[in-house]
Amino acid sequence: MEYTLFESRDRLGGSISSEIVNSAVIERGPDSFLSEKPAAAELCREVGLGAELIPSNDAVRKTYILVHNRLVALPDGLMFLIPTKLIPTALTRLFSLTTKVRMALELLHPPRPSEEDESVAALVERHFGAEAVDRLADPLLSGIYGGDAAQLSARTVLPKLVEMESEYGSLTLGMLAAHRKMRQAMSKARSNGKGQSSSKPRTIFTTLRGGMQQFVDAIEARLDPKSMRLGTPVSKLEKVDEGWMVHADGQAEFYDAVILATPAWAAGVLLERTDAKLAEELGSIPYSSSITVNLVFDDSQLGRLPDGFGFLVPASERRCMLACTFVHRKFLGRTPPGKAVLRAFLGGTKNEAMLTESDSALVASVRRELSEILGEKVLPLEAEPEYTQVSRWRRAMAQYAVGHQERKQSIAKRVTALPGLRLAGNAYDGIGIPDCIRLGRQAAKELVAAGETASQQVS
Ligand SMILES: Cc1cc2nc3c(=O)[nH]c(=O)nc-3n(C[C@H](O)[C@H](O)[C@H](O)COP(=O)(O)OP(=O)(O)OC[C@H]3O[C@@H](n4cnc5c(N)ncnc54)[C@H](O)[C@@H]3O)c2cc1C
Repeated sequence: MEYTLFESRDRLGGSISSEIVNSAVIERGPDSFLSEKPAAAELCREVGLGAELIPSNDAVRKTYILVHNRLVALPDGLMFLIPTKLIPTALTRLFSLTTKVRMALELLHPPRPSEEDESVAALVERHFGAEAVDRLADPLLSGIYGGDAAQLSARTVLPKLVEMESEYGSLTLGMLAAHRKMRQAMSKARSNGKGQSSSKPRTIFTTLRGGMQQFVDAIEARLDPKSMRLGTPVSKLEKVDEGWMVHADGQAEFYDAVILATPAWAAGVLLERTDAKLAEELGSIPYSSSITVNLVFDDSQLGRLPDGFGFLVPASERRCMLACTFVHRKFLGRTPPGKAVLRAFLGGTKNEAMLTESDSALVASVRRELSEILGEKVLPLEAEPEYTQVSRWRRAMAQYAVGHQERKQSIAKRVTALPGLRLAGNAYDGIGIPDCIRLGRQAAKELVAAGETASQQVS
């Protein structure tokens, strides 16, 4: 099949970008993907990277939440934001007594009478109170979407919880029932000899030994260099008989079909003259921006970091950081011995203005906040990082706002009416890398199938 890949930047990969500095893997964008979604690992294997896949170091997986400037570990038994273990929930310092009582009473929560979408914050607050939104839902979701629980759609982001509420009323009862079913299915599979009892349990995250950039490089190596146009933004798409005219670099070229894998706001601009309503719907999908700040320290500069992968910062703490990962702990073998990599995540929907700050101001803010949060003994303010790196990701993360499902369906309907067009990317059906890959492949398969049907009809 003949194809051309137009990319406005001078490199492939979009948000995926990493570099190796003094043998340490430094990720500018995503650092891994969810292991339970197979599309990314499958593609890695297909492009010859199977041996490079490494699991997260889940033996030390522990995440903290900052509460009144103290790091409090997430209690054991938390599933999808839902506390399912009595004793850890009763003992945790994460919640006040009032919230703990509310969590116990949640077992009596009736099913919601309405089918209408609502925000994640509304769903969680109705069940567990405002403190659970502030200390749990908001920081966990801003770590994933750079978003705001008060804006994100519960039906899209937490569909399992919405289903559980309609069946059980109580999310805790729903989660316990789901857990029970899963265990029964696993023990049945084991007794039928189909279980995975002998294989290692899957870890939460998977990454590539040499950084996520390996993925981009391996795919690029399999593409025909003559088919790639880097630094070539598409400026317009035009529907013509039997296909599409793609305008780029002052020329217009004819193609039978087009997959638009740009952010939705960019796709909207390109489709303005073809379908103004579709363009408007695409343009109305909100996006958030984010910043990552990587700091590499020599161990001699630091005291003992808390155990675990890192911490999340609720908005109520009024910090510029949303989260910090202890990178050298999360994935083993990607940081040389004697070094520590701390990666802070900033920005999000509530802090877009931060993007205009200089690199040195951002690094200074992160160093000050880390020192205040971890303590002067662990990270003295004067501890000089050996290397710092700031990356800005403008309007890179789609936000699945309340009503996203209806918007998605309406977009899909309008796209179906435009033969030879498909959309892919994080704006539609999953924000993570595996979902973006799944959608891209699906788009390609559908177009190939449609092309084959058309050529059979002609012959
Ligand atoms: C800081 C950060 C951390 C993340 N962490 C994780 C993580 O750990 N795990 C995970 O699974 N996901 C993570 N994500 C999310 C995930 O990386 C993204 O959702 C995903 O990579 C987006 O892929 P995409 O193809 O939709 O968009 P992009 O990667 O944004 O690619 C879109 C491409 O379209 C190009 N383009 C735009 N307009 C045009 C035009 N007119 N003509 C030609 N080209 C154009 C852009 O230059 C860009 O290369 C993270 C995202 C960010 C920003």
